[in-house]
Amino acid sequence: MAGDDTDTTSSDQLTSQDPVSRYPSISPPEQEQDAPGLQATVTPKPDIGELSYRGTGRLQGRRALVSGGDSGIGAAVAVAFAREGADVAITYLPAEEEDAATVARIVTEAGRRAVQIPGDLTDPQFCTEVVERAVAELGGLDVLVNNAAKQVATQSLEEITDEQLEQTFQTNILAMFRVTRAALKHLAPGSAVINTTSVQAYEPSPTLLDYATTKAAINAFTKGLAQQLASRGIRVNAVAPGPIWTPLQPSGGTPTEDLPEFGQSVPLGRAGQPTEVAPAYVFLASSESSYVLGETLNVNGGSPTP
Ligand code: NAD
Ligand code: MG
Repeated sequence: MAGDDTDTTSSDQLTSQDPVSRYPSISPPEQEQDAPGLQATVTPKPDIGELSYRGTGRLQGRRALVSGGDSGIGAAVAVAFAREGADVAITYLPAEEEDAATVARIVTEAGRRAVQIPGDLTDPQFCTEVVERAVAELGGLDVLVNNAAKQVATQSLEEITDEQLEQTFQTNILAMFRVTRAALKHLAPGSAVINTTSVQAYEPSPTLLDYATTKAAINAFTKGLAQQLASRGIRVNAVAPGPIWTPLQPSGGTPTEDLPEFGQSVPLGRAGQPTEVAPAYVFLASSESSYVLGETLNVNGGSPTP
């Protein structure tokens, strides 16, 4: 393992430890990739929990679909879900096959079923196909994690092209409506929908106008849908990460020159690692959160939220 990797074998997530020093305060070198970016080539390597996440049977026998499950937060969620006993289908863009294969291997090594579904969620038809394939291959669906997103930093509103605007809204919010709508007929009482929003919903960076707007929309969608589905026994919640080190950042999400300081301004003083976000999804997916609906769980290193 390279010295600058953030994977750790020293302790699992259940071991008592100082959150300040659980991971180093990273200063990623300036680097650039074409979107969507490959985790395999990000420096330092984000920790998706391969060596550290310890399951305790909290999702035994569940069947989960995680969009954007090839890398970053979605990959960490897929790994955690599998170690907690769930079978997992992941979606990703065809260019991300290498990352997806790594996640599928880790899920399989946990003794669970891994299903890989490549495709583009800006295509409305694919949003339905994804659900149908996951249901067919997993034998049903209990947990839907809407996590795929596009984030492109731009200096001014005039720089945001119609193409970028439409792709960001298609990926982040329209696909969330479409995939969830297609999934509903398969979700029995006890099922859970978890949407990935962001601290950007409350603290929009001036460089992320389109992205931040979709994240605020995701919070509204989550809180409204949670009320609509409550009586059907389907719980809808969201997770709002702060700065987490993933391929999203060096592939256009953060200006290259800002990468060395990424995440250092939060109260904890460091960027988070993807596996540190995964337990929030496990909690919201499992029955232990049976009375939690319409909630946004913030996992952001201490930034105050409304
Ligand atoms: P990531 O790049 O690892 O994951 C995003 C995934 O979205 C990609 O892997 C890709 O598979 C998928 N995706 C993008 N466009 C797609 C398309 N057109 N069709 C299908 N899939 C597509 O980055 P991440 O940071 O782990 O992002 C996961 C979620 O976390 C996103 O919703 C993001 O907005 C959110 N988030 C991230 C941070 C952070 O600092 N990394 C902070 C707050 C919220
Ligand atoms: Mg990816």
